Amino acid sequence: MGGTFNPIHYGHLVTAEAARDAFQLDRVIFIPAGQPPHKTEKYVAAANHRYLMTFLAIAPNVHFEISQVEIDRNGPSYTSETLKYFYTLDPTVEWYFITGADAIVEIASWHSPDNILRYAHLIAASRPGYAFPRLKALAQEIGGGEGRHQVHQLEVPALAISSSDIRERLRNGLSIKYLVPEAVEQYINKQHLYAEGAMQRT
Ligand code: NAP
Repeated sequence: MGGTFNPIHYGHLVTAEAARDAFQLDRVIFIPAGQPPHKTEKYVAAANHRYLMTFLAIAPNVHFEISQVEIDRNGPSYTSETLKYFYTLDPTVEWYFITGADAIVEIASWHSPDNILRYAHLIAASRPGYAFPRLKALAQEIGGGEGRHQVHQLEVPALAISSSDIRERLRNGLSIKYLVPEAVEQYINKQHLYAEGAMQRT
């Protein structure tokens, strides 16, 4: 599961569990982006904070793991390189890459998009009722025509929660209780993340 996780919230966690059920996954590996390739103009908390918040959030679930592969890699966190890394670790595994549908609709503009479906299926998570534009055509568009790997849509009601709304609430001094795990809320408060003037550019 890829994401900037800025910060991680219950929408991400429910998505991961729903994907695990729907696609009978053995485990879900959370991969916080080191340098999100498309976010050079936006404020993103430092990678070590996003990694630690993700670590705290997934700790109670034995089926969830975390990888720092994108944080350790220099340069932009290209998904094609990450998927190649996991595929190479074990090509006999049926890999799935889970992320938000709004991100996946932009996939044709990602780095090396033709490589993505070579290594994994895609699971595009969205709110219920989200009309996924060109879902069926997407695999063809990015050169996944061999048919082995597909693009799937997964509707998740909890995705009404969003990181941008949480950051906005924190900037305005509003509560984020019940939107993120308590440990994440405590970490954000302790580190003074996302308060007005507290963010850094990556
Ligand atoms: P984003 O563009 O900030 O997010 C788009 C939408 O997807 C937002 O509504 C976001 O909600 C949601 N979303 C993101 N991750 C999610 C997840 N794991 N589960 C459910 N919803 C999710 O997306 P991003 O987080 O920066 O990037 C998503 C993934 O795509 C990352 O792994 C990133 O590295 C990859 N990506 C790769 C390239 C490339 O290779 N060139 C380019 C763009 C993105 P929240 O804001 O609430 O998370």
